[in-house]
Amino acid sequence: MNDRAAARIRGFGTSIFAEMTRLANEYGAVNLAQGFPDFSGPDFVKEAAVEAIRADRNQYARMAGDPVLVQAISHDYADRFGLCFDPLTEITVTAGATEAIHCAFLAFCEPGDEVVMLEPYYDSYRACCTMAGATPRFVTLHAPEFRWDPAELRSAFNPRTRMILLNTPHNPSGRVFDRSELEQIAALCLEHDVLCVTDEVYERLVFDGTHTPIALLPGMADRTVTINSTGKTFSLTGWKIGYAAAPRPLSAALQAVHQFVTFAVATPFQHAMARAIAGPAEYFSSLTAEYRARRDLLVEGLAARGFGLAPPAGAYFVLADVRPFGFANDVEFCRHLVETVGVAAVPASAFYENRAAGAFLARFAFCKRPETIQAALERLGSLRART
Ligand code: PMP
Ligand code: GLN
Repeated sequence: MNDRAAARIRGFGTSIFAEMTRLANEYGAVNLAQGFPDFSGPDFVKEAAVEAIRADRNQYARMAGDPVLVQAISHDYADRFGLCFDPLTEITVTAGATEAIHCAFLAFCEPGDEVVMLEPYYDSYRACCTMAGATPRFVTLHAPEFRWDPAELRSAFNPRTRMILLNTPHNPSGRVFDRSELEQIAALCLEHDVLCVTDEVYERLVFDGTHTPIALLPGMADRTVTINSTGKTFSLTGWKIGYAAAPRPLSAALQAVHQFVTFAVATPFQHAMARAIAGPAEYFSSLTAEYRARRDLLVEGLAARGFGLAPPAGAYFVLADVRPFGFANDVEFCRHLVETVGVAAVPASAFYENRAAGAFLARFAFCKRPETIQAALERLGSLRART
């Protein structure tokens, strides 16, 4: 019995972020591994949560999301992108984007179905696909530009393909897929009658180019589930307020799962996030400006220390080529970094099925105070190439 349980969970893998954070704490390293801000979220949002708690908004929320929050989300999509979602039937508030991703796999996939995903991929996609009994089909984003080969993308689609999981802006590469790339995906979804689940949790963090929700492309609104999270935008990752927006039949299927996974999400934080989403324009513009400065500080510092890298267009990570340092692979490199240099990064092979494809890259997060990034760069000054 125990062996069966062990074999089953082995298929899910291990959260590399939790593991690297554990090591960072053990060695007293600067944690540029796990993507959480080490600075405060905005006061106006924290105050709104305190107010909601004091006003006794403390019982179960509406299953699919508190009316004030789903209204705010619906207005936001309409205002910024012209996307129309009925607040009461087409939006589901979840425990972070993580739960929305999980619900999507359980709602839409059965054993025998295939799911196309881009590699490197965010770790939970692979795990949730396994939990749903579906089979992942990986399409590699080729370094250093992290673009797919259109022929490889096309050949990943077949009659068993049920959905594609897109992530833009992309973790870990920082790519913001452009319109022509999204058009390739849309054409294949229409041709093969495939759903698109798109993880857009970093859509507010774009430094170069523009984010286009794939739901806007012709024919895609009916077959797209757009997933988002307030954790990144408001630097409050611990609140775990995410959401999925999709046409009514797809939302109904998601909610059929959500009602028995978490049922409903923390009520006072939903009230606070409703306030946050409708927050002042200056908050969002300064968010991007501050992130651009953090990105530039880290990218310039890493380049000066011998890493190979290009500035990411979006999200808050950079993939750096560690081959100049002469380690056997990314895991050896990151182990040395956390144990000896005192900086935690994520070995990028953790994001690949074909681990060798990522074995020369490390992921550094820049959702950190400039002092934190500076402290990491100072420590990295002691890094020497192995001879
Ligand atoms: N998707 C991506 C691409 C992420 O990077 C993360 C977390 N950083 C999530 C989903 C999970 O988001 P949440 O914390 O809202 O569950
Ligand atoms: N998404 C965050 C990252 O990419 C981590 C979230 C987590 O630890 N599950 O680093």
